Amino acid sequence: MNVNMELRCYNCQSVVVELPVSKLSKKEGLNFLCENCGHFNVLKHKMLQKGIERNPFINIFGIDERDTAF
Ligand SMILES: [Zn+2]
Repeated sequence: MNVNMELRCYNCQSVVVELPVSKLSKKEGLNFLCENCGHFNVLKHKMLQKGIERNPFINIFGIDERDTAF
């Protein structure tokens, strides 16, 4: 059972990222940048909510890549 969940931008409702449901809890609190509208979303309670803008070079997808590299 590894169902992917589409996480949609709080602002424009486009799909920002697809994650397996089993991994959602590990990603809580991470920021995701919407490529469509450029707004930050933060993953909370398994949904994307309005994120706080901060340095775009930290705490976005880069963290994911490092997680899986090791
Ligand atoms: Zn968006």
